[in-house]
Amino acid sequence: MRRDDADGNSSLSQPRCEIEKTPLEGECQRPGEVRYKGIILLCRPHAALLQLEDRAQAVLGSVFRMDEWLQENGSLGADEEYLGRIRHEREEAVGALRHIREQIRSARKEVLQ
Ligand SMILES: [Zn+2]
Repeated sequence: MRRDDADGNSSLSQPRCEIEKTPLEGECQRPGEVRYKGIILLCRPHAALLQLEDRAQAVLGSVFRMDEWLQENGSLGADEEYLGRIRHEREEAVGALRHIREQIRSARKEVLQ
């Protein structure tokens, strides 16, 4: 437990971003504004970054599942039309992932500002 420093400003002191500190980034000095997953309070840049990373994880997971499915069913004479649809979905997911990664890159820059 940590208490706010008594800096004469405490009546309106805003809670800080509670992102876990990494040695590289140090403590986040921004105010916590967004309740992330109902648990921790984050500044907007950190909340945006974590949300993007969650999305990337989810999309990556679905690409992985589709790959597994294709490996198991791709050579067993599965319905060609269905196979084609899965392949197409996979390509779209990979494209989305690329886009999310770009967003993550710029969100990271924002966090470091
Ligand atoms: Zn933060």
